[in-house]
Amino acid sequence: MVTRFAPSPTGLLHRGHAFAALFAADAARRGGGRFLLRIEDIDSGRCRPHFVAAIREDLAWLGLAWDEPVRLQSQHMDTYRAALDRLAARGVLYPCFCTRRDIATEIARAGAAPQGPDGPLYPGTCRGLADDERARRLARGDAHALRLDVTKAIALTGPLDWEDLGAGRVPADPAALGDVVLGRKDMPASYHLAVTVDDALQGVTLVTRGMDLFQATHVHRLLQALLGLPVPRWHHHGLLAGPDGERLAKRDGAPSLASLRAAGEDPARLRRDLGFD
Ligand code: GLU
Repeated sequence: MVTRFAPSPTGLLHRGHAFAALFAADAARRGGGRFLLRIEDIDSGRCRPHFVAAIREDLAWLGLAWDEPVRLQSQHMDTYRAALDRLAARGVLYPCFCTRRDIATEIARAGAAPQGPDGPLYPGTCRGLADDERARRLARGDAHALRLDVTKAIALTGPLDWEDLGAGRVPADPAALGDVVLGRKDMPASYHLAVTVDDALQGVTLVTRGMDLFQATHVHRLLQALLGLPVPRWHHHGLLAGPDGERLAKRDGAPSLASLRAAGEDPARLRRDLGFD
């Protein structure tokens, strides 16, 4: 049994993160396994090193211990690039030159766009580019992302499912997310690609994370099949709500663990409040 907590260092952790970290560590402990910490810092525009230090302090304060060294995703771009090359060799990637504005314009023009969990799906503009147009723009060095041709990918893998300790056996429906970005314009990786590659490389056997990422698992299951990676089990857990009933979020000013600590909160009490120990 190997589990992990994989935060992005874009801010201070709050009680919701404490719950997620304790949930993963508790599953590892009960399974007699190992608990890992992974720092998901590919987005250099939003991630800050001092938040990495704060994550370590907060988790140690909570009483958690994890295997060292901690994997920092920003140091493994070559690994993600190699995974993109393997996907390209399977013929399931295409370059996408669209800007956000291009995508919004195309969606408005089409009238109705299919909706995904995070809003309208990519309308597929660049999937349909003529070969010579695509070659011309690549030769010119136009900035482009790499998108997954999800229809082609599903045709290669056939139907897939996953075992979820919360939801049971779940049929994968990656088409619901459309042609997601796997390589961003500014880096040879994206959240979906890096998390899938790393969970396999680190031998994670049980992926625990919040229900807010349930939809992403449809895509991760497909990527595992395309890349021939081992398939873990998942356990998507509920999200902590604040006093207003809305899920806790750092952007809405949920109190940070650092501020609770500074105010004299007892970590053992916090663990108990969150349902552990
Ligand atoms: N890094 C993601 C986050 O901060 C979670 C990673 C995952 O469990 O897939 O929400």
